[in-house]
Parts: sequence; C-alpha cells; structure tokens
Amino acid sequence: MNLEKKFEETLKKIKISKSEKILVALSGGKDSAVVAYLLKKGGYNIEGLHIDLGMGKYSEDCLKKIQELCRNLKIKLWVFEVKKEFGNSMCYIRSKIQAEKKGIKNCAICGVIKKRILNKEARKLEVSKIATGHNLDDEAQTFLINIFKGSPELSSNSGAITQNKKDKKFITRIKPLFYIAEKEVKAYAMKMKLPVNYEKCPCAIDSYRIQIRNFLEKEKTRSKENIIHCLEKLKNKVNELKSLEKVFYCENCGEPSRKNICKSCELMS
Ligand code: AMP
Ligand code: ZN
Repeated sequence: MNLEKKFEETLKKIKISKSEKILVALSGGKDSAVVAYLLKKGGYNIEGLHIDLGMGKYSEDCLKKIQELCRNLKIKLWVFEVKKEFGNSMCYIRSKIQAEKKGIKNCAICGVIKKRILNKEARKLEVSKIATGHNLDDEAQTFLINIFKGSPELSSNSGAITQNKKDKKFITRIKPLFYIAEKEVKAYAMKMKLPVNYEKCPCAIDSYRIQIRNFLEKEKTRSKENIIHCLEKLKNKVNELKSLEKVFYCENCGEPSRKNICKSCELMS
C-alpha cells in the first residue's frame, strides 16, 4: 500500500470530519510537513502551529521552511515564540532545569514543555484536534522504551488517536503517520519537494532513544508494525492500569495534570 493510501486508511480509522478545525503541530521537519500537505490535499480544515524554540540557526531554518510550506499550501500559521513568552530560549530553560534536576534528558524536558504549549494553544484557538507528525518508527521506539523502563502503562496514550476522555481540557491528538515508516515519509517529502529542514535538532542527544533507534533501524518495517500491533492488542490491559489514575488541575498553571503540579511546572519551577 502506498503512503497516500495508508494515510487515508488511518484517517478513516480515526474518523475526522472535514468541518472540524485541526491544528497541525509543525516542527519544520519532514513528518509534520507531510501531515499538513496531505490533510490540506484531502480538503481538511487545518491551521498550523509552530513552537519557535529560539535555538539559533536551527530554529531560524525551521521557521523559514514552515513559512514557505504554509504560504504554498495556504495554511494559516501561528507561531509561539518561547523566547518571547518565557523570556529565554529552550536551551537556556533546559540547562537551568538540568543544573538542578540531574539526569533529565534534553528531549524529555523539551517534549513535556512542547506538549503543554500545544495543548494550551490548541484550546485557545478552539480547534477540536491536534495533528502531529509522529510516525511508525517513533511510536515503535517509544513503546519499546516504555517496556524497557518497566512501565507499559506509559503507552496507554499511544495510538493514531488519543482521546483523553477524563478531561475536556485535554485536546484530542491524532497521528496520521502512525502506521507509516519513517523512510517512506522521507521519500514522499522529497518526491513532493516539500520545504523541509532535514537537519536533526542539535539538542536531540537523548542517548537512550538513539540506542533504541539504532537497534530498530536494523529491523524490517514489518517488525516495527508488529510492535505497534502488540501495543494495540494490549491496549485495553494497559488502559486498565492507567484508568486508576485521577486527573488534577495544576495548582500553578491550571492545566490538566496527573499530579497536583503538572510536569511542565514541576520542571520550570
Ligand atoms: P519530535 O518529537 O521532534 O520527533 O516531534 C514529533 C512531532 O511533534 C512533530 O512531527 C510535530 O508534529 C511536533 N513538534 C515537534 N517539535 C515541534 C515544534 N517546535 N513546534 C510544533 N510542533 C512540533
Ligand atoms: Zn502547571
């Protein structure tokens, strides 16, 4: 099955409508560019949001590519500037956190902060869903990492659609590339000549994920699909473990959270 067909099949499975507004989280990379391109091509009602991390040339290049993509595709683009909103770049924020809380990986910090920004901005923009570019390789890696951590319940939110029914403040997230291998996405982005920054984030030096990625890279796409099928077969069990958890509102920022202080505020305080 080719990429476009798989994309369509995934959309059928997650049942999105053409009238609802979807916010595509645009990083400047190939994956989210392909998501925006194909959703727009399919006639969906999308807008884009980029979180400008203020990380020098890398961030500038990402923003330029996204602006070009949105201009070409006629997509309204929103930019959240970390430097303007938080007073410092992501590099500074991260170093400060790591100086006090040793051992937290770069990508873990950035990921938590980006997730919170996305959810909050999506609510402000009154969209019904957030679409991200996570692909089959990303998801297979994450599931394996969670297994190695001994915490499969961390994967309860994984899936082509994440409907956190526990709280309306959580915006539903969709991953239209959930079943599509990274190399296929890359080939497609190149074939369509999409404006993309192919450089890796200079701070992505989370050695554990790289280790897992290197291990999985040697495996066939079929094996990665099998990992995802395992996740789907175990989903009900994993969700049972998770359903025991309560949702709180962060005492600091008011966002929904698993504890009385959300992960983002816990890191940034
Ligand atoms: P990553 O974790 O960097 O592989 O990113 C996974 C997905 O998160 C991307 O495909 C985007 O949809 C979204 N994303 C990552 N970084 C950003 C960003 N700076 N701004 C907006 N969305 C982002
Ligand atoms: Zn908070």
